Amino acid sequence: MKHSRDLGVILVCPHCRVEVARLDDAYVCRSADCRRSYPVVDGIPKFLVDDATLLSPEEWRAVVPQNGDGAQHG
Ligand SMILES: [Zn+2]
Repeated sequence: MKHSRDLGVILVCPHCRVEVARLDDAYVCRSADCRRSYPVVDGIPKFLVDDATLLSPEEWRAVVPQNGDGAQHG
């Protein structure tokens, strides 16, 4: 069994520079407008826009922790 190492750095989406949320086997952009999911291969995140999977809004909501307030900045 492999154990993921904590890199101790904040990772951001290469597409929009928003912080990503860490899942078991992927990193997902926290931007509701971007919603890109980046795969983790052998413990190494592949932050390539070309390799990203674009999640549907429903998929994105299911995997990205939402903040309590639904306030939006306009
Ligand atoms: Zn993004």
